[in-house]
Amino acid sequence: MDFERHSYDVVVVGAGGAGLRAAIAAHEAGARTAVVCKSLLGKAHTVMAEGGIAAAMGNAYPEDDWRVHFRDTMRGGKMLNHWRMAQLHAQEAPDRVRELEDWGALFDRTPDGLISQRDFGGHRYARLAHVGDRTGLELIRTLQQRTVALGVDVYMECTVTRLLTDAEGITGAFGYWRESGRFVAWEAPSVVLATGGIGKAYKVTSNSWEYTGDGHSLALQAGAGLVNMEFVQFHPTGMVWPPSVRGILVTESVRGDGGVLRNSAGNRFMFDYIPDFFRKETAETEDEADRWYDDKKNNRRPPELLPRDEVARAINSEVKAGRGSPHGGVFLDIASRRPADYVRRRLPSMYHQFKELADVDITAEPMEVGPTCHYVMGGVQVDPDTAEASVAGLFAAGEVAGGMHGSNRLGGNSLSDLLVFGRRAGAAAAEHAGKRAGLVALREEALAEAARAALEPFEREGGENPYAVQSELQQTMHDLVGIIRTAPEMERALERIAALRERVAALSVEGHRQYNPGWHLALDLPHLLAVSECIARAALARQESRGGHTRDDFPATDQAWGRLNLVCTRTPDGGVTVARQPLPEMPPELAEVFEEQP
Ligand code: FAD
Repeated sequence: MDFERHSYDVVVVGAGGAGLRAAIAAHEAGARTAVVCKSLLGKAHTVMAEGGIAAAMGNAYPEDDWRVHFRDTMRGGKMLNHWRMAQLHAQEAPDRVRELEDWGALFDRTPDGLISQRDFGGHRYARLAHVGDRTGLELIRTLQQRTVALGVDVYMECTVTRLLTDAEGITGAFGYWRESGRFVAWEAPSVVLATGGIGKAYKVTSNSWEYTGDGHSLALQAGAGLVNMEFVQFHPTGMVWPPSVRGILVTESVRGDGGVLRNSAGNRFMFDYIPDFFRKETAETEDEADRWYDDKKNNRRPPELLPRDEVARAINSEVKAGRGSPHGGVFLDIASRRPADYVRRRLPSMYHQFKELADVDITAEPMEVGPTCHYVMGGVQVDPDTAEASVAGLFAAGEVAGGMHGSNRLGGNSLSDLLVFGRRAGAAAAEHAGKRAGLVALREEALAEAARAALEPFEREGGENPYAVQSELQQTMHDLVGIIRTAPEMERALERIAALRERVAALSVEGHRQYNPGWHLALDLPHLLAVSECIARAALARQESRGGHTRDDFPATDQAWGRLNLVCTRTPDGGVTVARQPLPEMPPELAEVFEEQP
């Protein structure tokens, strides 16, 4: 067929933190490397990250080390994390931050010139390296500059729609240029997926338009397994008003820097929601909680800084009990607790966000906030050391990969995850490509089939509009597979997803291939449906509540389920099946960390 073709050793799909770090590592290992991304370079989701990168550098508290970070991460994930990923992450994150600094990143400093580290929920010590509340921007700027300076080829505004495989594994990828609609194929023995998350499956989300679960779905289609898909993180604090900005994130740093949550009666309700699991390490009174900000050694943490799943559920309960704010959230108050110049200096983006989008001055009045779909813990099941999936030559890093965060991710642990596993994925992908050099070729029939499938929506006439289907899917996931779940609701969601799948197979798009957002969405929709089905099926199968998965019909956390992962794979007829898999056993020297006092 007549379209653009390229040949590389490693093709990285995605140019967020994970993709760029993988590309740098692959290039440095000598691989001919390309990065492909759906939007402009620099516009990846990572750029939106606000609070910081978690790394046990010990700058704020010398007693912090990787073991404490490992312990916090596992406890935050309710022990369902892959222990080896959590270990590598905690051990390597400090080096990845220092390396960023060597490459030109300018972090905020302590008075004695070290990288400053701030508090976040679930982290025992102040541990987040940050740049105001614009950390992701600095991270992307630094990685992007290095990627371009090294001479890695970048294909931007280019969407991958298929992974190409043969009996031995990956042979390349297929996609289209968003502007011209023309097709492009890359021959490569290694593909690294770094496509981020799935937020656009939900109606209220902090995620941008790119988060349609493409990498999750491409991996599933290629034969890989998706692990932990039932665990979706609803960040407790998204904007709730006005409707046009509903879901936009309000960073956890507001609480880390002294902000507190109150209900309509003015009560700091989080004291009523401290679970036994975290009781020993959480303050019991407002006085103790307030003292903690100045003296962390002799006081316990405020309950507002419990892990995100706990805080999101508490807000949900307050609103349901009729104690919410006028627009269906609760109040987040930093104005009465910190001087205005402190708020403007520590939280400049939040100040502008509320001023410009909601006409609220956060130095003078409280914000209204509520849960928003933020992050997916589930993703491609990978080998912890190499990030390789069960399909040879397929690697996954960053939010698209699963296992690292268990049932709930701690804030700040994503940016560090991107760097640690992006680097590992890029290096392993280069090594794999070295072994398969000259052995892969693109099959003409596979390319023709990928092109035919992509053009199908133009062939049909009179079908329905893709935007209507997307909005119904988002409403379905919001209503039936949201923060609190029940079996009958999830069964209904699965029926609706099946019906939507039939509608997607019949929808049509108008116009031609030059920049046609309706067509782009029509190609994204099968991915959104695939990830939604995986989430609903895994959530229905897990009969307990844990982390980002709360069952109204199974409210307790169950020890037996705590030893099991759920893995989604494709069936031959295109459906999804869910299998139970025992959790890998943690070695005794790591298990000892949990016997120490909190
Ligand atoms: P992304 O940065 O999203 O990059 C995905 C890339 O894949 C993009 O380049 C996209 O164009 C590309 N892509 C997707 N599909 C395709 C396709 N089919 N073809 C080609 N390209 C494709 N985490 C923290 O640790 N600390 C924080 O302070 C923090 N703050 C956050 C604030 C906000 C508002 C949000 C939304 C998230 C925040 N997170 C934070 C989470 C963190 O930012 C993300 O989890 C992380 O950036 C994901 O990085 P990634 O490299 O996996 O994917």
